[in-house]
Amino acid sequence: MNYRDFGATGEKISALGFGCMRFPEYKKGEESFVDREKTDEMIAYAYENGVNYFDTAPGYCNRNSEAALGHAVKGFRDKILISTKCPLGDDTDADGYRKKLEMSLSRIDTDYIDFYHFWGIGKGDFDNIILKNGLLEAAAKAKEEGLIRHISFSFHDDPSAIKYIIDTAEERGVRMESMLCQYNLLDRSNEEMLKYAHEKGLGTIAMGPVGGGRLAAPTDLYTKLTGKPTIATYELAFKFCLGNPNLNCALSGMENLDMIKKNIAVASDKTAFSASEWEQLGAAMEEVKKFSELYCTGCKYCQPCPVEINIPRIFEMWTYYNVYGLKDHAKHMMAKYIEKGGKTFADCKQCGLCEKKCPQHLKIRENLEKVCKTLGE
Ligand code: SF4
Ligand code: SF4
Repeated sequence: MNYRDFGATGEKISALGFGCMRFPEYKKGEESFVDREKTDEMIAYAYENGVNYFDTAPGYCNRNSEAALGHAVKGFRDKILISTKCPLGDDTDADGYRKKLEMSLSRIDTDYIDFYHFWGIGKGDFDNIILKNGLLEAAAKAKEEGLIRHISFSFHDDPSAIKYIIDTAEERGVRMESMLCQYNLLDRSNEEMLKYAHEKGLGTIAMGPVGGGRLAAPTDLYTKLTGKPTIATYELAFKFCLGNPNLNCALSGMENLDMIKKNIAVASDKTAFSASEWEQLGAAMEEVKKFSELYCTGCKYCQPCPVEINIPRIFEMWTYYNVYGLKDHAKHMMAKYIEKGGKTFADCKQCGLCEKKCPQHLKIRENLEKVCKTLGE
């Protein structure tokens, strides 16, 4: 496993982080549970093979992820870094922050959280909740008491807000110590801000290093981009992330042992991308930039659609078609989808609800029309 200095936190972090949002689950009646046996095995394997950063959140895996992680790391809690997150509602005040932290501590069954994040914030949340309700001070107090070791944030907003958040917190006397944001070969919008954060001494982590699963598909993308013999696409995606000298760790939501083994192999590869290869690859990627016009993260915020059009599924087919050049495969996916009764642009009522909810501000209807027509609606 490769390790990096995690910003100025004094921690060494493994190049691969374990995202705990896809633990294996099973159902009993209507309720979902994490399969503890499989999860214990997965976490133990990751730990034994060098992964030392585990990222959970109260809402993951039907609210069972924190407890499952806590259970799985019992024998080596003090050897790893646990990250979890504080969900912010408009009414979250210092007491609320504290209660949420205490609940996470209790679910994980630990005395401290290594990295406690303000969860999924943007400028609006920062101004209207964190600053207004004194949550920076609440975080500083919790840190002083040893309940959290580092103050962090995860981010979903216009990249410029990252600088604002880091600088404003610092002006208020609280140093943000690490940051988790979207970054991958297909979405490099936070790249400049990663550099800024890194220069300010924050530890930096990428979520979605394999583009929400898009880059997990087999393709000759690497050859197309570099002219070199092909490698697996997930490998390309990881190497691209980890080649960025301003990024410390790539977080992957791993769901089975096979995936863990593959990711560990890439993150342990001593011949990881050099900074110059990373630059070269990034430049080559510009050639396929047209894809970014339709960068759907698969977040599903646009769902449900009143006529049940599975928008992320259809946009995923477009990725196969347009980015990977797997045209027949994409058309086959569409045919299967329609065969199973899947709704398409032809059913769209033009209500516009989906576009109001899309964090990527995609012109969903326009793109749906293009994709459905191209793939044979
Ligand atoms: S605009 Fe069309 S696709 Fe979007 S939510 Fe409405 S019906 Fe669904
Ligand atoms: S909300 Fe936007 S980014 Fe998320 S799945 Fe729907 S279309 Fe894709």
